[in-house]
Amino acid sequence: MRSCSHDPGEAGQFGDRPYHYDVVVIGGGHAGTEAAHAAARVGAKTALLTLSADTVGAMSCNPAIGGVAKGQIVREVDALGGLMGRVIDETGLQFRMLNRSKGPAMHGPRAQADKRAYAGRVKQLVEAAENLSLKQESVDALVVADGRVTGVRVKDGTVYHARTVVLTTGTFLQAVMHTGEAKSAGGRAGEGTTAGLSKNLTDLGFELARFKTGTPCRLNGRTIDYASLTRQPGDETPRPFSFLNDTLDVAQLDCWLTATTPVVHDAIRANLHRAPMYSGQIDSTGPRYCPSIEDKVVRFADKQSHQIFLEPEGRTTHEVYCNGISTSLPRDVQDTIVASIPGLEHAEITRYGYAVEYDFAPPTQLRPTLETKRVNGLYFAGQINGTTGYEEAAGQGLIAGANAAFSVAGRDPFVPDRATSYLGVMVDDLVTRGVDEPYRMFTSRAEHRLLLRHDNADRRLTRLGRDLGLVDANRFAGLEAHEAAIARATDYLRTHRVAGDTLEERLRRPETTWDELTALSPGLGELDVPPLAAEQIAIDTKYAGYVKRQQAEIAKQAKVDAVRIPDDFAYESLGQLRHEARERLARVRPVSVGQAGRITGITPADLSVLMISLKK
Ligand code: FAD
Repeated sequence: MRSCSHDPGEAGQFGDRPYHYDVVVIGGGHAGTEAAHAAARVGAKTALLTLSADTVGAMSCNPAIGGVAKGQIVREVDALGGLMGRVIDETGLQFRMLNRSKGPAMHGPRAQADKRAYAGRVKQLVEAAENLSLKQESVDALVVADGRVTGVRVKDGTVYHARTVVLTTGTFLQAVMHTGEAKSAGGRAGEGTTAGLSKNLTDLGFELARFKTGTPCRLNGRTIDYASLTRQPGDETPRPFSFLNDTLDVAQLDCWLTATTPVVHDAIRANLHRAPMYSGQIDSTGPRYCPSIEDKVVRFADKQSHQIFLEPEGRTTHEVYCNGISTSLPRDVQDTIVASIPGLEHAEITRYGYAVEYDFAPPTQLRPTLETKRVNGLYFAGQINGTTGYEEAAGQGLIAGANAAFSVAGRDPFVPDRATSYLGVMVDDLVTRGVDEPYRMFTSRAEHRLLLRHDNADRRLTRLGRDLGLVDANRFAGLEAHEAAIARATDYLRTHRVAGDTLEERLRRPETTWDELTALSPGLGELDVPPLAAEQIAIDTKYAGYVKRQQAEIAKQAKVDAVRIPDDFAYESLGQLRHEARERLARVRPVSVGQAGRITGITPADLSVLMISLKK
């Protein structure tokens, strides 16, 4: 069946086999670029195939990176040598540490991005990477033989041969965009959709389901009356995302605050029948924590007002993003809404908001490496796994890309665990519990969040990244210098006293700051401890008791996680197990008793039965 397909690779007429790759990544979004870059970093010959070479690294929705828990993921991706942290440091236009008044586990770095500059820089880094080729291609189908992926077929029939494939098509699978009654095919305004791949995936036996997400309108900033709004500036001393940067020298732009009014809510209520979510035109689930404005007005009927953040989309554009009024209401209603918001009375809409419905693949179909159980060598990452958010996508991309490359090289896979990273929490949640709404990260998803702080992501992951080949010598040298400074200063604190206490004991008191300690013991000042090392010591010391407790819990959990379950374990034959438990276990096929215990609906009694049969 190759009559009309151009297949130079198979024909083998090119000496350097130009259509043969170790890893082919489909999709140049946040998951795809991290996947391709990670695979290339560890030495795999990699191709990144994406619909348009002009939208590599594009931000489909809000012009921001990070936030609480999401910021931690960005720091983890950076600690493993990924792109996102470095790029936002270079292209951010406002930096803020969220939740500063709370404990360190809750701090979340967030930055407004210059959207175009961000995407442009991601593309440059992709283009500059060794072993990595960027190709503008629309992939129509996966080529699979004997349960193993062998390549992908693009629109004109050309086949790219691949030993492993990472699929990261985001919101593009059978995507339909809605603005009021108007519907069109496409995964992002101005772009198309990919219907063929969905059929191909279901033909291969994958289950697909549908989610929706939405985006607000953008305004011409020159038509906003800023004088009547509340200014929200960035932090005075912006904190970098990347561990490669100690400080940031950046001219920051302001964001602005306004809010909806009862008039806005009335207009929305009067037009609910025209909102695709309520008219029945959309029936898929959207992100509960990022609801549309029509959703907020219905769900929180007694609220008179909802906050809106006006965020610049870039340094070289006047466009402003209206964070808080994501909507799929028709244009005329969006016009009325905007005109009824203080400060926006005369604002011009440059782009209308819309919702998009798309296919995703329920992630219990994946192993913890993000390889699919159904087709060997095929990995899924990003929004296709039912997640939402750039950061979640980037994290999965890095893991899937690295594992795709490791599998080609015959190396052990990289499976991050819940105790050392949010990446581990996310992957375990996805493959063990699946999703019933778009999944985004929260600190409450991590049982050991005090250990998983943004400030120590390098200490948790960079050494591992170095061992895996994801992290270069320069980054690793930075970590070693940091650890050496921490060790030197900790030693000093333990061996020097004031008024009978060691300095470490003094620092343990909640009210004692590093500066006070330095004043008490001038020798400490002479050590010239870098501020970030001092911060680590202060947190480690003050929270030592909690950390010790969490580590004891982790050790206990590690024992159950170490009890492995063979891949082909026959749950059906476990007569002593409840029918429902058998079904759930057989569907997820957990790799360990620990993972089995985290499957929704599996009880301690089920685990005991499982343990006994494993021992047999
Ligand atoms: P994407 O960034 O979507 O990238 C997919 C890539 O795959 C694109 O480069 C595309 O060109 C490529 N591609 C698709 N099909 C093919 C094919 N057949 N062949 C080759 N390449 C292909 N997230 C939030 O956190 N909050 C929000 O409020 C929010 N709102 C959103 C609103 C809208 C309208 C959209 C579209 C997205 C929204 N998102 C939101 C989601 C956010 O954009 C995604 O989470 C993130 O971009 C996912 O990254 P990804 O890499 O998985 O996919």
